[in-house]
Amino acid sequence: MTNTTFADLGVAEPLCRALAAQNYVNPTPIQAQSIPALLEGRDLLGLAQTGTGKTAAFALPILQQLAATNEKREPKCARALILAPTRELALQISKSFETYGKHYKLRQAVIFGGVNQFRQVRSMAGGVDILVATPGRLLDLMNQKHIELRRTSILVLDEADRMLDMGFVRDVKKIIAALPRKRQSLLFSATMPKSIEHLAAEILTDPARVEVTPEVVTVDKIDQRVMHVDGKRKRELLAKLLDDTDLSRVIVFTRTKHCANRVSEQLDKSGVPSEAIHGNKSQGARQRALDNFRNGKARVLVATDIAARGIDVTGITHVINYELPNEPESYVHRIGRTARAGKSGIAVSFCDNAERAHLKSIEKLTKRPLTVVDTTEWLGEQIVVPAGEPVAPKRNGRGGGPRNGGGGNRNQPGKQRRFGGKPNAGNRGQRNAKKGEQPQSRRQSAGA
Ligand code: AMP
Repeated sequence: MTNTTFADLGVAEPLCRALAAQNYVNPTPIQAQSIPALLEGRDLLGLAQTGTGKTAAFALPILQQLAATNEKREPKCARALILAPTRELALQISKSFETYGKHYKLRQAVIFGGVNQFRQVRSMAGGVDILVATPGRLLDLMNQKHIELRRTSILVLDEADRMLDMGFVRDVKKIIAALPRKRQSLLFSATMPKSIEHLAAEILTDPARVEVTPEVVTVDKIDQRVMHVDGKRKRELLAKLLDDTDLSRVIVFTRTKHCANRVSEQLDKSGVPSEAIHGNKSQGARQRALDNFRNGKARVLVATDIAARGIDVTGITHVINYELPNEPESYVHRIGRTARAGKSGIAVSFCDNAERAHLKSIEKLTKRPLTVVDTTEWLGEQIVVPAGEPVAPKRNGRGGGPRNGGGGNRNQPGKQRRFGGKPNAGNRGQRNAKKGEQPQSRRQSAGA
């Protein structure tokens, strides 16, 4: 979060009112950087991923400009077009426009494939101010002459890299060809491969470039571990881990605000002083929580992803992912809270059955498997993930016996039980495995 306000950025009062109702106090960095440039009418190239607040970064200036010019809608036309790769994202964007624009009388439609087109065609009949669409269905309806883009003066390509990965490049180019040349264009992408650079060069004119990089995280210095655990036992596992006083300044990440509150309450009840920080808290409450965490009054800070952005607290000994993020990039952000300023740190991720797919995406992104930790010492059992069957948990002792370490886990030399001490114990284990020592599990051996 930044210290400016939305009004400082030039955001109009009706939008500020809607934001206040959402408890948005300060703009996120991408919002602070994008909004002024977009209100000036500039093109924009945004390197940012979901979770940074990028939707509001483009939605607010678009709403403000559309409301200010208040042009008449024309049948089948849209004044602004937002292209998104998936139905889920399209719906999410559309919802954001609705929330932020609730004090304006702008009309919008959302269009995606996989459902009957009837309602979508009807929603476009009288024309809209904002159209959010996935490329395939949009092109289809354009070809059927249900939608026209000749009056569209603002274009957003959201998650452009994903759109190209999904094979939409030709559709996207055809759609762009149907737009007026004179327009404001925005392109957001989490990564910048050559294909996106080319696309950006083709469609943007002198764009403002905004980059919200996951700050350079020295991931190599972080000892990354995973504990396979039944979702119902996460609470117990967390409490047991916190018995170790080496975990002295800990951030616990959850996916939802609700879960953050619940975990924090449980910790307080069990005598571990904690604070929760998330988007529903006022700026004052967040500041107090952070102060208490910094000055050591709270040993644990329970946070959601968005709230944790920009938190710069030194000396965080451990990051615990109570729930794995569904965006693997968020994992890198999260664990980067420890290992700041070149220090090393420990990140422990709890992974239940439903989260195995998230774990796989994380390992794909970081190109490095997390070290599996045997939970027997804490929970009296461990869930074994058989090699090649990442989503079918088996209990230790059944079906093939322990594969993830059992008693003599070489990947945790002498440190199986404790999470304190030298953070890089796990990495050392991976190096041992590299020297040809017998691997204990596929995950662990693959870490070599
Ligand atoms: P996005 O990256 O656009 O998907 O946004 C991620 C989440 O952050 C959404 O749940 C938004 O509601 C929330 N969010 C966006 N901007 C802010 C802000 N300035 N303050 C608090 N929450 C925000």
